[in-house]
Amino acid sequence: MGSAPKKPEIGAFGFGEGSTPDGTGDDQGSGAIECVEPKDAWLLQRTYCLSGNRLLRTSSDGSIPSTTCARQVYRPRSAQEIAELVRSIPATIAIACVGGGHETSNAAMFASSEAIVLDLVHLKSIAFHQEGESSLVTVEAGVVFRELVEAVKGRQAALPVGTGPDVGVVGYIVNGGLSGYFSRRLGLLGQRVVRLTMVTAEGDIRVLTPEDDLFIAMLGAGSALGIVVDVTIMMGPASILQSAEQRVVAYETREQAVAFARGALRIQRDSTLPNDSVSMELVVTGTKALVVTVVFYDAFKGSTAEFVKPLEALAASLNLSIVLKSHWSTWYEAATALWPVIAEMKGSPLGMLQHSMGTNGPPTDAVLDFICDTVVAEAPLDQAQFSIVEIRTLGGAVLSQSEIPTGNCHHQFFVDLITLYDAKAKTVAERQEIATLTQRVMEKAQHVDGLSLDFSGTHSQPDDVNSSVTASGIFGTEAMADSIRGLKKIVDPTNRFRFHPFAKILG
Ligand SMILES: Cc1cc2nc3c(=O)[nH]c(=O)nc-3n(C[C@H](O)[C@H](O)[C@H](O)COP(=O)(O)OP(=O)(O)OC[C@H]3O[C@@H](n4cnc5c(N)ncnc54)[C@H](O)[C@@H]3O)c2cc1C
Repeated sequence: MGSAPKKPEIGAFGFGEGSTPDGTGDDQGSGAIECVEPKDAWLLQRTYCLSGNRLLRTSSDGSIPSTTCARQVYRPRSAQEIAELVRSIPATIAIACVGGGHETSNAAMFASSEAIVLDLVHLKSIAFHQEGESSLVTVEAGVVFRELVEAVKGRQAALPVGTGPDVGVVGYIVNGGLSGYFSRRLGLLGQRVVRLTMVTAEGDIRVLTPEDDLFIAMLGAGSALGIVVDVTIMMGPASILQSAEQRVVAYETREQAVAFARGALRIQRDSTLPNDSVSMELVVTGTKALVVTVVFYDAFKGSTAEFVKPLEALAASLNLSIVLKSHWSTWYEAATALWPVIAEMKGSPLGMLQHSMGTNGPPTDAVLDFICDTVVAEAPLDQAQFSIVEIRTLGGAVLSQSEIPTGNCHHQFFVDLITLYDAKAKTVAERQEIATLTQRVMEKAQHVDGLSLDFSGTHSQPDDVNSSVTASGIFGTEAMADSIRGLKKIVDPTNRFRFHPFAKILG
């Protein structure tokens, strides 16, 4: 697509005026803020998936909503451009930000007719620098994990990155994102941020450091509080990873998957959780695979082969074949391992629902039984074949670093149920069945003692009708929730930033 920059005039904001039919393109001189048209093509290009709830609300001919409701979509190129734009529009106009475009309810993408969208895709800089002993990287708001991981590779460094290559780094941080492979050793990515630049609801540019009241709040509730332009993150050394082992076990029946999960999750609880030098993840996929990944950090002592033996023995005892054995010896290999798998998950559109559940301490037998007998057994893995149940270990370094506003800080055991399918191949009734099966699992989870639900801004479904989300759950504690509510009133009193995963709890 070409370019269509348009400079909004201060005090005379005219929606749609002056924009041309296509608009991804080039800079056309200083001061011009690019305006994107047509908006339906933009939505198609920038949205990774559509919410499984949104896919139930089709028009009478069954078609899927295909354009944003926002009045205008802008593509700024700097903090100054963003500040100028925010100041130039009436204070009654809401502002939605799009980074990587992976949010599960598409709140910011669709926004509303009272809003403009800032697509931050042009903010692509990644800059490395050294401050004393600290190796830092400053990442702008349009950078996605693929770009960051490739850049960090050459620096012999490591970061607790998310699995999706095209997920926005800042979109992940401002909603409290976690890394199943690396967080036990490196903490959450947000916990490694040392500085950030943001634009406020009034159009002021602020550089925040840990001394500022707003700093911590931005690292888990930031999507509700401002527009983040860049974050500066402290990197760890690549040597934090000693090695990793992955075993892919094929299953045919759901009973086999449940039986394997029953054994593997006890190994996870009893051997991995007490040992901060290891993390373990079990993924049950709709494509009939049980994927176990064990990551050994630098402090791990002993034989990695011995550590995974019980998992291999478990597969053998159930007559299940190990169809793939992988060994990784670098952070980069582990960080990129899932990229080819994620690339296979395609749809037009891809429908998605995300939910999480977990426990603060080691899970009880009752919790593990529920995860196996209900979540693994009843999740719509057959109906929505790209779906996965990911069962991860958290805690470790996350607990020892400073608390940020996300339930991910407090959970050692974490399950996410990602319901994913190609919506094109499904009737509305079939999509409804998938949503109902997912919802049923979550309803049953509400009755399990000690299990928290949907405590993460990156793994929850904010547009669920009967959402169980609470402010204390999603921000970690009641005190943190109070602090976020208080700051929201101060920094965004008219709720200009209202298109984010916390909309229901920060009205
Ligand atoms: C394939 C896949 C893999 C994933 N893997 C992980 C994982 O390993 N761990 C994990 O925790 N999560 C994971 N997620 C979830 C993902 O981290 C969240 O959905 C995240 O919020 C997406 O960020 P985004 O920038 O891509 O999305 P967007 O939809 O662009 O943004 C998400 C939200 O953040 C806001 N936002 C984005 N940028 C800014 C900004 N600069 N300033 C203020 N607000 C902003 C948006 O307004 C929106 O509300 C995954 C999702 C997918 C689809």
